[in-house]
Amino acid sequence: MILAGERESIVKYSKQMLKSGLVVGTGGNISIYNREENLIAITPGSRDYLTLEAKDIIVLDSDGRIVDGEGSPSSELALHRIFYKNREDISSVVHTHSFHAASLSCMNKGVPAIHYLIACAGGDVRCAPYETFGTSELAQQALLGMEARRCVLLARHGLVSGARTLEKAYSIASHIEYIAGLYLTCLSAGQDIQPLSVEELEKLNREFVSYQ
Ligand SMILES: [Zn+2]
Repeated sequence: MILAGERESIVKYSKQMLKSGLVVGTGGNISIYNREENLIAITPGSRDYLTLEAKDIIVLDSDGRIVDGEGSPSSELALHRIFYKNREDISSVVHTHSFHAASLSCMNKGVPAIHYLIACAGGDVRCAPYETFGTSELAQQALLGMEARRCVLLARHGLVSGARTLEKAYSIASHIEYIAGLYLTCLSAGQDIQPLSVEELEKLNREFVSYQ
């Protein structure tokens, strides 16, 4: 099977994404770009994660032509491909609809640097302007919003993270969802939260070098 290891990893993290509550139902999607083979493995569209198997993961070339797998790729294929084309530091993309990140995105708010774990994303996480799901416009806004970062929120939609490996991209998505929850809790308590200083963030970014 082509990209067997990548497809197995995507299945594993897709099930974990559902179990962890980062998505509901068939929402969200995961991909890996094998730069040597110039092939992308991505979750299929509208498929139950619980019964997902490696053979169900769709493999495409970098132009978006299906090379292996039955059915159609995720409707957010453009959202994944734009990062592989424009960000050499990203070889895996995770897209979730996690509750707290999506809540902030409904208010057009990003995730400020209120907790040290934000360093996994390279700093505060912006919220990209709303565009319809599955469109190239959404992909473009996500790319712009994630400039010099490894995560971005999509207005009234969810979260996208990217990293060199799926393990790291998934970890970023989980950490940012956690911080989004903290931020909403603090806001609910009526607290004015100061973000970490620029100096401290620079220090943290040096410590989180394994995410770069
Ligand atoms: Zn989505």
